[in-house]
Amino acid sequence: MAKKLPAVDVALVGFGWTAAIVAEELTAAGLDVLALERGAWRDTPTDFAVTFAQDELRYMWRRSLFQEPARQTLTFRNSMDQTALPMRHLGSFLPATGVGGAGIHWNGQNWRFLPTDFVARSHNEARYGTLPESMTVQDWGVTYDELEPYYDKFEYLCGISGKAGNIKGRIQDGGNPFEGPRARDYPNPPLDMVYGPTLFAAAARETGHKPFPCPAANMSRAYTNPLGVTLAPCSYCGFCEKFGCGNYSKSSPQTTILPVLMRRNNFELRTQCEVLRVNCDSSGKRATSVTYIDTEGREFEQPAEMIFLCAFAQHNVHLLLLSGIGKPYDPKSGEGVVGRNYAYQIVSSVDVFFDDKIINPFVGAGGLGVGIDEYNGDNFDHGGLGFIGGGYLACWNTHGRPIELHPTPKGTPKWGSKWKEAVARNYLTTATISTHGAVMSYRTNYLDLDPTYRDAHGRPLLRLTFDFGDNEHRMSDYLTDRAAEIAKAMKPREIHAKKRNGHYSVVPYQTTHNTGGAAMGTDPRTSFVNRYLQSWDVPNLFVMGSSVFPQNAGYNPTGTIGALTYAAVDAVKNIYLKNPGPMVQA
Ligand SMILES: Cc1cc2nc3c(=O)[nH]c(=O)nc-3n(C[C@H](O)[C@H](O)[C@H](O)COP(=O)(O)OP(=O)(O)OC[C@H]3O[C@@H](n4cnc5c(N)ncnc54)[C@H](O)[C@@H]3O)c2cc1C
Ligand code: SF4
Repeated sequence: MAKKLPAVDVALVGFGWTAAIVAEELTAAGLDVLALERGAWRDTPTDFAVTFAQDELRYMWRRSLFQEPARQTLTFRNSMDQTALPMRHLGSFLPATGVGGAGIHWNGQNWRFLPTDFVARSHNEARYGTLPESMTVQDWGVTYDELEPYYDKFEYLCGISGKAGNIKGRIQDGGNPFEGPRARDYPNPPLDMVYGPTLFAAAARETGHKPFPCPAANMSRAYTNPLGVTLAPCSYCGFCEKFGCGNYSKSSPQTTILPVLMRRNNFELRTQCEVLRVNCDSSGKRATSVTYIDTEGREFEQPAEMIFLCAFAQHNVHLLLLSGIGKPYDPKSGEGVVGRNYAYQIVSSVDVFFDDKIINPFVGAGGLGVGIDEYNGDNFDHGGLGFIGGGYLACWNTHGRPIELHPTPKGTPKWGSKWKEAVARNYLTTATISTHGAVMSYRTNYLDLDPTYRDAHGRPLLRLTFDFGDNEHRMSDYLTDRAAEIAKAMKPREIHAKKRNGHYSVVPYQTTHNTGGAAMGTDPRTSFVNRYLQSWDVPNLFVMGSSVFPQNAGYNPTGTIGALTYAAVDAVKNIYLKNPGPMVQA
């Protein structure tokens, strides 16, 4: 029997980027906010001190900051006719656990989506005709222009280092000319550029592209954000993605928000408290509480006036399904919304091998790179290409970690003296161009509850059914071919283009940019939340993060997640609190 606790105004499930933003904004508005995080407390001096923050074995390979599959996992299959099996090792994506969530161990590659990404169905259909019946692509119900002030707010919170490409409609030299208009430049100048990306920039220019420094949440200089929290300049240590920053140089909930939040009496963070379900009243129209369990196995019921799911893409959807909130998606009938529109991203790369150019891959930062955006979204004419969407190309210098990075040309044996020789020859002199492509949503890609496998609490595991479509393969091939052309213009000894062929595999790491399952939109028959991320069915329940994306775009998601969160919380303060109830009429 769960022990019932005194009510709070707001309960947050999870404590990553989205929860930190909601907590800061709503405590500042005077509400009592409680965050329930399943993982442990984490902070810079105690958990990422520079004396051990770069332990590659511990963080990269033993995954010490990530969800442990022995405690929580999901099942996976490529298609509906297969039996899904539990993932006993996480591979393709690495959900976070612990205070700060994935905001601790992200790269900090911080992008805005394109204006056309938010109207993906109406824009593409107007330009290219009706989309295939198999695609469940839809408009977001919010526009880029509406989100612009909130993108700006997240970028200034984080202290993004970058160069604007479009200020109020005026194209800026050296920035990304394809980006939507922004009100002002980034708060910090770009990071210092290293040799590999500089060679890429020259070759991209020579082949008719407009390269720009990628926007990064790694500090190019000391920066004090609008909350008064100061970050230090990045030391380009290269232990960024999958690691915490010991240098206070990567924006995370810890380095931008928590120092302020922890001083507020109306904020409480309870760690190692796993939320098991959201409870509703008998009408099913009002969320009354969450039930959680602590490390001693004690169950508590925590009543709240408002509940925000901030537990990351799959976990938000899992909780909705387990709580019986919203109609589960049925791929056969196409009806239902919870689990619908799951999407991901498709990546590929081209290795560029030199003899005479020392790239020094170990001088890196998570967002240190040069990109081009000519082939993203609808920045190019897709007529006759057989696909919609696209992605950016970038040459990153993010890391040269000794266990992980072994660039070797095609045909090199996988072990032995020839392999060692090839690694020694190429480690310092290889650059890589990456492609980062969108994935559309499809009728047959979705999340539901597994009929067979159960978790430690006896509840069905989440089941993921997902594969890339022909659209994604054609698009990724197209991007990889463009990357190979630029690679050749860098005048290397040889290149190795690694296309993304075949079915989606859950084994190798790709990105933790999982999206959908509780999509936003304008129609409750095809979306779980409205434009303010408020549940259509249960108006005091809100869903934050990438589970609300109706499909994915060709960029990393967190800039858009931050903007959507700020926009939602603004609506809560200005509309909902004055008149609690649905903020959009269905
Ligand atoms: C290795 C890696 C690199 C990345 N790099 C980039 C990048 O360069 N650029 C970019 O844009 N994005 C990147 N991302 C993605 C980015 O980190 C996420 O988009 C972002 O952190 C999501 O924030 P969130 O608040 O939605 O979820 P999270 O940060 O995942 O936080 C969710 C929290 O909820 C907790 N939780 C889950 N279930 C429960 C439960 N039942 N009860 C209580 N707590 C729960 C989790 O423990 C976690 O702490 C990366 C992600 C990873 C893993
Ligand atoms: S590269 Fe910079 S931001 Fe990343 S962990 Fe190292 S010091 Fe921190």
